[in-house]
Amino acid sequence: EPVVYSQVLEDVLYRFEPIAQAKGVAIETDLDFDLIILGDHDRLEQVVGNLLDNALRYTEAGKAIHVKTFSEEGYAITEIRDEGRGIPREDLDKLTERFYRVNKSRTREDGGTGLGLAIAKHIMERHGGSIHFASEVSQGTTVTLGLPLLPDDEFDI
Ligand code: ATP
Ligand code: MG
Repeated sequence: EPVVYSQVLEDVLYRFEPIAQAKGVAIETDLDFDLIILGDHDRLEQVVGNLLDNALRYTEAGKAIHVKTFSEEGYAITEIRDEGRGIPREDLDKLTERFYRVNKSRTREDGGTGLGLAIAKHIMERHGGSIHFASEVSQGTTVTLGLPLLPDDEFDI
């Protein structure tokens, strides 16, 4: 069914704002409120929620996370950029494998099962969408989501 995508973002951000504040990490947002897509609000909230959970978990106090949505060539694009520890190049391709965690011994203390991104990729594919990672060690990570926009003439809300 048609989903107002900014509502998904606002619901997730509302949930994570107190967690970010407690951790001393700022979340800066730049949202496009005109993006309508076809899909499942709760599943998409789960995807963005996992990405924010990761960004917060791997970013230190005093740094920021930037969340931006915009439309590009018929897609709703979401960029979630953190200023955290980053991900080594050789791990980038494996992130969406089930149970994959970067440098297991180091990250065990952070909790997590390594399923979040596998689930995120699955949900994005079910929506005809995509998930892409770019990262620079000790600079930060940017996750980009693409979801097909519902063409203007196909909804009436
Ligand atoms: P879960 O999401 O199941 O609780 P998880 O967060 O460890 O556990 P994923 O979300 O699948 O699992 O992430 C896989 C691994 O990718 C993480 O363990 C971490 O090593 C790395 N990772 C993911 N996002 C980031 C990020 N923003 N910055 C640095 N490393 C990241
Ligand atoms: Mg995770």
